[in-house]
Parts: sequence; structure tokens; C-alpha cells
Amino acid sequence: MLKLDFHPSGRHFLQIPGPSPVPDRILRAISYPTIDHRGPEFGALGLKVLDGIKKIFQTRHPVIIYPASGTGAWEAALVNTLSAGDKVLMYETGHFATLWDKMARSLGLQPEFLGLPGIEGWRRGVNAPMIEERLRADTHHEIKAVCVVHNETSTGVTSNIAAVRAAIDAAGHPALLMVDTISSLGSADYRHDEWGVDVTISGSQKGLMLPPGISFNALSPKAIEASRHATLPRSFFGWSEILEMNKTGYWPYTPNTNLLYGLSEALDMIETEGLQNVFARHKRLAEACRRAVRAWGLEIQCVDAAVYSPVLTGVMMPDGIDADVVRRNTYERFDISLGAGLGKLRGRMFRIGHLGDCNDLTLVGALAGCEMGLKISGVKIAASGVLAAMEFLGDQVVPPLVKS
Ligand SMILES: *Cc1c(COP(=O)(O)O)cnc(C)c1O
Repeated sequence: MLKLDFHPSGRHFLQIPGPSPVPDRILRAISYPTIDHRGPEFGALGLKVLDGIKKIFQTRHPVIIYPASGTGAWEAALVNTLSAGDKVLMYETGHFATLWDKMARSLGLQPEFLGLPGIEGWRRGVNAPMIEERLRADTHHEIKAVCVVHNETSTGVTSNIAAVRAAIDAAGHPALLMVDTISSLGSADYRHDEWGVDVTISGSQKGLMLPPGISFNALSPKAIEASRHATLPRSFFGWSEILEMNKTGYWPYTPNTNLLYGLSEALDMIETEGLQNVFARHKRLAEACRRAVRAWGLEIQCVDAAVYSPVLTGVMMPDGIDADVVRRNTYERFDISLGAGLGKLRGRMFRIGHLGDCNDLTLVGALAGCEMGLKISGVKIAASGVLAAMEFLGDQVVPPLVKS
């Protein structure tokens, strides 16, 4: 039998940048009995989550919910809006951008992968002037879409989406703007309407605190119009039938009922805390994490302070240290999962997730695990990162909290 009790005592620290820990409240909601997906109760649930999720994308336009992982929503965005052979401009921020580019190629599109050499582009956000220059050169408007990743989960770097929008506008180019916010939605400020995004792609298992299994396409009127003329084959992912059925809270097929209970609960939790407070909490935890990394004397993967990710922090290892060995030691000894370096950064860094259901003590505990893991792996650290993080988090509390 498969051994499922790997973590015999205490809580496993799931500190990868997704899937992130699922709060008990959400797990309980998911355990409610599955209902008839054509019955009246379901319609009410469907309408609630379809409306509620718009607030998280900060949009007034429709959001589609798929029973698929984030990768499915990537595909949905492309096949609904584009036609075989279309040129798309993608930007290399890291491993996930690379995978999306690969998918575009496999769907019969012609992606052009813009970026900086080596890992330079993996340590910074999207370079909007490069996009503007490329679009200006495209005088016949052959490029049909610009695709960027908002929070590059492989590196811990966000990108300035408003700047990408401004670059497209400055070039006077009609391309659609598509943004992957799979790891940032519900954790980092994201504004679908204000930033003029045409399709935003997201997923459930990262900032939204849900298990894997549902994903999203937030649309713009321009994207919906483009979908009427686009000819890439689509069936399951086709927007038009879903949009029609969603008007009454239903889907053309059996949706992921129990995960929608979870989504409903997550939306309630975010509303109670306040979306802006959720963003502020993530920023604060990320700052505490970076202070810990600096105190250790290690390098933060992102080199531009303007685009540090509020969701995760990439920690570079000194030369000669295999980050995967450090991760494995830490996991085996302290029961904490850390993210691996991906693609070009394999073995050179690990990633600490601080997203979703995470508070001060979760982070301090995670950093303690990292610190002890670094020590047992023979990585020389300059000072205690845990203390640096605690000092910052403590100072953030407005005194006097309790009068004695
Ligand atoms: C996780 C992730 C994906 C892939 O999503 P899946 O749910 O694993 O299919 C794509 N892009 C980004 C930025 C991600 O973080």
C-alpha cells in the first residue's frame, strides 16, 4: 500500500510556492457532500463563485473557471483567441515563461521568445521597452498577442504589467495582452481591468489557498471579440458555450463541485481579511524573508528591488553548493518542503514560498527550518536570519498591543 503517513507528528511545512497549505476551513468546506450539478443549489453556488472571483482579478468582465490545472488555462487562453500560424510575442522571465512558449509552439503558433541572455532575464522582470521596440518594428501587425508572466514562480520575480500595457499602447499596436498570474492571484496586487489585460490566466493552488484542480481565464471584451474569429481548434476549453451556461451559474459539463465549495470559502476568507490587507500581509512576510536571506549572507535571486515577489523568495547558493542537497537534507531532517531551482537554475537555488495561508509564525518556523537545514548541509551563514526576520516582524507590531 502507498505510504501516506510520511509526516508522523506535527504539521508538515509545505513551503513550496504552490501548492500552498490549504486552511482547515477550506478542507472542511470541500468535504461537504457532492450535489447535483444541474440542481437549484448548484446554480446559487456557481453564481456566487463566478461573481466573487471577479473581485480578486479586480475585473467587471467574465471570469471562466475550468476543472483543470493552470496549464489547461494557459492552453484555453491561446486556443480561444488565436489561429494557426499566428505570431505571438512571449517574454522569457524564467521556467514558466519557457513552458508557455513551448506550449504555444506545440499548438501551431509562432512564438517569438524575447529576453536577455543566460540567466540575466531570470533575475529581473519583463523589460517593457524591449517589447515596445519589437512591436514598433512590427508595422504590419503580424504579432497577435503579447504573453507575459506576472509572478515568475521559478525565480521570485514579478513584472510590471501596467508598464507592458503602456509599451503596447505607445507602439500603437493592437496585439492582445495575456498574463499568467497563476501564482500571484489572491496574494499580490493584480488589476485585470485597470492594467488593460485581455486574458488573465490563473490557478487555484497557490495564492488562493485551494488544492490543485481549478484554473481561470479572466476576459476582456476585446478577447471575447477575438474568440469569435480565432480558428485554433477548441472544444472543452471553448469560451462561448461556457459563458452562455455560466449566466445561470452552470457549466456545459460537470464542474469541480467540491473545489467550488472550497473556492467559495476562500473568497469569504479573503473578503473578511480584506483584499488590500491580504496584499499587505504578503509584502510584509516577503520583506521579513529577504531580511533573513541577507542576514545569512546569501544572495536573493531577484536583483531588482522594485520587482521582488511578495509570494516567494529565491535563495542563491554559494558556488560549490548543490541547492538540491540542501533541500533534501532540510526535508528529511525537519519535514519542510522547499522549492527546487528549475530549468537554468537547477541546483543553484532553492525557493521559499510565503503565500496564501501564511502568517508571521509560519514564516519564522519555515526560516528556522531553512537555517538549520543550511547548517547541517555545511553552508556557512553569516548570522541568524530567523532573528533578523523576528526583529522586523516584531517591529511591525504597533505598540502597545497589551497594556499591563
Ligand atoms: C504553477 C504555475 C504554472 C503551471 O500551473 P499548473 O497548475 O501546474 O498546471 C504556470 N505558470 C506559473 C507562473 C505557475 O506558477
